[in-house]
Amino acid sequence: MPKLTIDNKEVEIDSGATILDAARKLRIEIPTMCFRDGYRASTSCMLCVVKVEGLERLVPACGAIAQEGMKIDTVCEEVRLARIGALELLLSDHLGDCMGPCQVVCPCRMNIPLMIRQIRQGELESAIATIKKDIALPAVLGRICPKPCEKVCRRGEIDDAISICLLKRFVADVDLQSSTPYQPKCMPVNGKKIAIVGGGPSGLSAAYFLLQKGYECTVFDQNNRLGGMLWTEQLRERLPAEVVEKEVALIEKLGMRFESRKKIGSAVSIAELREDFDAVYIGMGELKEGDEKRLGVKTASGCIVVDRQSYKTSLEGVFAGGDAVRKKRLTVRAVADGKEAAVCIDQYLSGKKLKRTVKEFNTRIGKITEHEKEAFLAGADRRGRVKPSNEQAGYNEQEAMGEAGRCLHCDCRKADNCKLRQYAQQYGARPARYKGQRRPFVQQVNHPEIIYEPGKCIDCGLCIEIASEEGEKFGLTFIGRGFDVQVAVPLGRSMAEALERAGRKCVEACPTGALAFKDSKRRTNPP
Ligand code: SF4
Ligand code: SF4
Ligand code: SF4
Repeated sequence: MPKLTIDNKEVEIDSGATILDAARKLRIEIPTMCFRDGYRASTSCMLCVVKVEGLERLVPACGAIAQEGMKIDTVCEEVRLARIGALELLLSDHLGDCMGPCQVVCPCRMNIPLMIRQIRQGELESAIATIKKDIALPAVLGRICPKPCEKVCRRGEIDDAISICLLKRFVADVDLQSSTPYQPKCMPVNGKKIAIVGGGPSGLSAAYFLLQKGYECTVFDQNNRLGGMLWTEQLRERLPAEVVEKEVALIEKLGMRFESRKKIGSAVSIAELREDFDAVYIGMGELKEGDEKRLGVKTASGCIVVDRQSYKTSLEGVFAGGDAVRKKRLTVRAVADGKEAAVCIDQYLSGKKLKRTVKEFNTRIGKITEHEKEAFLAGADRRGRVKPSNEQAGYNEQEAMGEAGRCLHCDCRKADNCKLRQYAQQYGARPARYKGQRRPFVQQVNHPEIIYEPGKCIDCGLCIEIASEEGEKFGLTFIGRGFDVQVAVPLGRSMAEALERAGRKCVEACPTGALAFKDSKRRTNPP
């Protein structure tokens, strides 16, 4: 029984066991991608490398046998850099979008492809939950958003972008008209109080997310009704008063208090709010003459100065977002600020390190070729954009389902359980570090349940071994050499013939989205 130390901890392990086994015995986590218990170690991904004292080269923990007296380091800088290098090398030849281009540019980071799938399946209750996870005022934004998502929608490269905004509006309108509109679950009241200055989109959004975390929220506004700039005359034609009233009322129902006709600087000061509340969020919209002085926070060029990572102003416990902090004014950005600032205020009041929501790792395919357009269209409706029969009323259910059918579902089917993405996020790997010429986008869809995307394969070989072990007649094999090596079905047979019974096991073992289930119910989505 060899004895060794890993990260200065001693461990005794059975003869013939690997360094990975020994680390697991000590509950030391070593990342692996190509390794699977019970299978031969292929040591192809090189993510599990560790430093063994006395050896010049790092060794892969999954394949190296633990020896008596070994001194192993799994966390030193050399190991960390080698793992980043291994990930960046894998990413250099990787082709996929973790998130759809639409979601990446949405300031609220709403999961648009998921919403569209839910609409397509007639699951409107799930669709509104998807929307309201990130957007407090979807019926409002569904009418006035400048739609940055549609500008980058991949379908737009083929014919017309998906009418994302109208689809969102459709779901939000159906919900608002129902007898029990969607309300998020709120944590029990935690006793901490937050003052929100300004009852416009940003303030309302901050309140919506803070109430869910159990904070008591009181909104102060100089007007006698909530909504702020949503009441401006120019918006009236596009944004009916009833929509604003109903969406605001839903937030009030979560327990938000409203102090009307309270102008900050005259009726009440920020300093007073600081005394009576645990934190303050200024989401009052564009600063007017005199506001800079009245607020008492640092300003520059007509905007409140905030730390871009945390939304903190120059005053302790006072945060700000929306049109008050930026020159380029977008309602959807103001709503996104409210959501992100709520995260920061919660971190601040829970004594955690302040940083806005972590940017999720993402790889991108980028622009697609004529040939690739066909591959993307494989599962989509080829019709052009569906126009609502009644422009004023927006989509009816049939029209919304028709438009949803046009989506190319650019997001990855394994976005929330892909090991490559998870480790790339954890180690801060850069997806484009070694990017050269990319491979073409290919999808193999002939299997009844499974999609194979070679561009996402890391050549770990697990599916080949599993298929052979399960006694598949044709199974899978590697073809090609060097960088061109690929998993394929021998004898020119199809994926359906290759994986007649081992499909599920292969999908579960595949560390990336290369092998994934087709069915959108089994498709995994980012949280
Ligand atoms: S396989 Fe992983 S890294 Fe690649 S697109 Fe999918 S989630 Fe992103
Ligand atoms: S086709 Fe669908 S998933 Fe792709 S960018 Fe457009 S809306 Fe998003
Ligand atoms: S398709 Fe097969 S070889 Fe490629 S990453 Fe998935 S399991 Fe590994």
